[in-house]
Amino acid sequence: MLENIAQKFTDITKQLSGKGKITEKNIEDAVNEIKIALLEADVNLRVVRRFVNRTIEEAKGEKVLKAVDPGQQFTKIVYDKIVALLGDENQALNLNSPNKTTTILMLGLQGAGKTTASAKLAYKLKKEGRNPLLVAADLVRPAAIEQLKVLGSQIDVPVYFEEHKDAVKIVNNALDYGKKNQFNTIIIDTAGRLQLDQDMMNEIIAVKKAVNPDETMFVADAMTGQNAVEIAKSFDEQVGISSVMLTKFDSDTRGGAALSLKSSTGKPIKFIGIGEKIEDIEPFFPERVASRILG
Ligand code: GDP
Repeated sequence: MLENIAQKFTDITKQLSGKGKITEKNIEDAVNEIKIALLEADVNLRVVRRFVNRTIEEAKGEKVLKAVDPGQQFTKIVYDKIVALLGDENQALNLNSPNKTTTILMLGLQGAGKTTASAKLAYKLKKEGRNPLLVAADLVRPAAIEQLKVLGSQIDVPVYFEEHKDAVKIVNNALDYGKKNQFNTIIIDTAGRLQLDQDMMNEIIAVKKAVNPDETMFVADAMTGQNAVEIAKSFDEQVGISSVMLTKFDSDTRGGAALSLKSSTGKPIKFIGIGEKIEDIEPFFPERVASRILG
């Protein structure tokens, strides 16, 4: 993951490291190369501009120009700025205490990895001692209910489903069922579409109103770069999201979605999907990702 951008950043910072003295021109050149690397990584232009301005401003300060190892000092500034772009620190899920039900609504476009992400999250929370229930409310993608049932049986987490197309009725019944049967964490897989679609938004708005979720997690496909950011913004404007799960991070060589999502939407990436298997889920740690990018 992130191989392309990491290689470029390593090349850029290597040129400055070890130099006893660097000039303002050296800094400008390096920042310019960073700018190109970020744009090639498919980072949002506004985000790149802000990043570049702030980095230049700080790097031209006395601290870098007069540092013992100015290259290293410069790299530290870039690292801190990347960490800030990624969201500073890991943000935990909004979980209630175990004796109160927590509801998590998963939303996103078809193919982003929503159904897989729902099961991964259930698996993780079950391992942490919670008692999750999965709810199959993706009534649009033909195989979604069956897929969730298969994943649920693999991890021994029950899946609530009904054989009709009224998503609001299903989630209302699922909430009643969950509460009656002592499931303290209810994870709802909702329907996406291949692209943004008003019917989908209306359905999700109605489902969200019925659930009043503790966490509304947008599932974003890292491979789609900036497009994922635009889709996240639309979901946030229309439905309101509280966090992001970034899937297919294992296949993302560029990093554009990861680097743009937080500063473009204000919503933290809480988890990453790092493979197709059920255990391939990790909390998102900005510092770890920044270290990967800067070698
Ligand atoms: P949905 O339509 O949003 O519910 O998408 P699915 O959960 O069916 O996932 C679509 C495809 O992406 C499937 O083939 C998944 O196995 C795959 N997928 C999901 N998450 C990841 C991930 O983190 N990494 C990789 N490599 N593949 C993933």
